[in-house]
Amino acid sequence: MTPERRKRIDRLKKIILRMIVLMVVLPTICSILFGVKLYQAGKSSDRMAIQILLLEKALQDSNDAIERERALVEMNGDIRRSAETEQALEAADTPEESAENPESSEGVRKVYLTFDDGPSAYTEELLDILAKYGVKASFFVTGKGKGRYGDVYRRIIEEGHTLGLHSYSHEYNNIYSSLESFQNDLLTLQTFLYNETGVISSFYRFPGGSSNTISQSGTREMAAYLKAMGITYFDWNVSAGDADGGHLSSEQIINNVMLQLPSRRVAIVLMHDAAGKYSTVEALPGLIEKIQQMENTEILPISNDTVPIRQVEYE
Ligand code: ZN
Repeated sequence: MTPERRKRIDRLKKIILRMIVLMVVLPTICSILFGVKLYQAGKSSDRMAIQILLLEKALQDSNDAIERERALVEMNGDIRRSAETEQALEAADTPEESAENPESSEGVRKVYLTFDDGPSAYTEELLDILAKYGVKASFFVTGKGKGRYGDVYRRIIEEGHTLGLHSYSHEYNNIYSSLESFQNDLLTLQTFLYNETGVISSFYRFPGGSSNTISQSGTREMAAYLKAMGITYFDWNVSAGDADGGHLSSEQIINNVMLQLPSRRVAIVLMHDAAGKYSTVEALPGLIEKIQQMENTEILPISNDTVPIRQVEYE
């Protein structure tokens, strides 16, 4: 047996093993989570419905992955493959690498404007500015306003922005006190937003980012829970600095962002939509104009295609 042939067989074994893991482990985890939730039933049926929808979504994602692997195995059934399929397999074998290498994404700089902590009294004004410039952004929202901002959540979606999750209470000590608290907070937000908008968001931003030190060792478990639920978390690699202590002028906010942008091929920009952050609103028009003047640059809302910039990658 030539070493090359052995290499191919090894790779095929790897694919089959991965298929088995996907087929057995994921549904098992989902069933256990589902079982636990069933056991805790008696709570709200709304929350249960969201949980089921999320699990279905996660299962669908894993089924898609299994289908892709199966297609690859069939394609290579007799192990004699053309150089072309060999390359295709190599590419399919390392999806993370290519996705996480922004240099490979055809040279266009992608900028994602994200606003945390809203809705607030300023959200409508932010939406007006974004509409004026024809720019789509992403809002990682909380449920803090209770029922007060129903129209705002709906407007975010109707105008083509991404509605992301940022915790219901935004109280770090509560959310991060245990995995169960984290799950409860997330499900409360999911249910709340589903009732307000009919949308189930699958984008999450950890309060304080994934590298927060509040949850100590718990963030890994929380990240695993998000993954099992088919939810992707996003941090940022450009900060407007508008959350730091002290008031920043709109010029300082623009400068902060524009200093960091040129060195990023994929830029997820952290800003805040909250009381006392009006200079962020004032900065937005100038900031958009400056970004739009950059060559080979586009401003996009976060989607399933977005490279999930992360401070900590939990696996
Ligand atoms: Zn926050």
